[in-house]
Amino acid sequence: MKHANIAIFVPHVGCPNRCSFCDQRRITGVQAPPDGGAVRAACEQALQQMGEERARNAEVAFFGGSFTAIPREYMIELLEAARPFVWEHAFHGIRISTRPDAIDPEVLGLLRVYGVTAIELGAQSMDDEVLRLNRRGHTARDVENASRMIRAGGFSLGHQMMFGLYGDTAEKTIATARRLAALKPDTMRVYPTVVLKNTMLAELYEQGRYRPLTVPEAVRMSAWLLNYFETHGVSVIRLGLHASRELEENMIAGGYHAALGELCANELFRQRILRELEQCNPPLGKLVVEVAPGRVSQAVGQRRSNALMLEQRGYQPKFCPNRSLTGYQCRFRWPLSKQRK
Ligand code: SF4
Repeated sequence: MKHANIAIFVPHVGCPNRCSFCDQRRITGVQAPPDGGAVRAACEQALQQMGEERARNAEVAFFGGSFTAIPREYMIELLEAARPFVWEHAFHGIRISTRPDAIDPEVLGLLRVYGVTAIELGAQSMDDEVLRLNRRGHTARDVENASRMIRAGGFSLGHQMMFGLYGDTAEKTIATARRLAALKPDTMRVYPTVVLKNTMLAELYEQGRYRPLTVPEAVRMSAWLLNYFETHGVSVIRLGLHASRELEENMIAGGYHAALGELCANELFRQRILRELEQCNPPLGKLVVEVAPGRVSQAVGQRRSNALMLEQRGYQPKFCPNRSLTGYQCRFRWPLSKQRK
């Protein structure tokens, strides 16, 4: 059954500084932090809407800030409100997101007592210069230390990475992905940088000191990262920011597309198809492109982009499912009369 989150946003409480790209209130659309009553109400409402069976697979998720850096009393108020729903097995567990420098053995012990099962770290980059330029206030070493403590504590470990930040390069992004994968996270969220109004990045952009990502750049790198993490056993649970009117109204530039995940899948199929063409060199004309079931529309591409690419090369493609294929694999077939001897 599909995993679900009861997402509760705690914007900016506990952040020791304002990172260059961040305006959580705009990203999440949440202006005021919730209290325990709001958490209980959200859980009860989700339980009613989901039904008991689906809820058992869902997590209460505290997102949007630096959960373990918020005042301890407030953190406990929120956890206490969520805990009964987990103890009574209404929900599977509690997920939180926090800063790498706000993890220590004492806070992990507390999180365990309150039923937290998964911890996501906002790592963003593993390049200390990029972290410094973007006012993250922590180092790559903090990400490594926190990741080890979380894994040793038996929690599910998640990482969030961002690319295209001020001072970032494709090489630094790839190096970040390698260092994060080496820490063996269970899940990954990948965000191409988006420039929001009233942020440091917006100022740098207006002064001509920062070049934001373009959408094609964001798609190409996201596709590379998706493929890299998946082939290293890391499940990518999010690509790009959630679409919202608030976000779209406050975005100035950057690698945002409401269907980024779909575009990445199209791109990975495009690359596979090109590789297959080179290896198989099929005769022009009718060409059957077989892909994993459920992936046909991704292989065809948005606005038939991959089908058009083949047509422009002289093929008449037909995309079909093949149960023996998985992921972004594809296989070509063409009429027997045209088989090469
Ligand atoms: S990115 Fe995280 S730590 Fe930085 S300001 Fe935003 S919520 Fe706070």
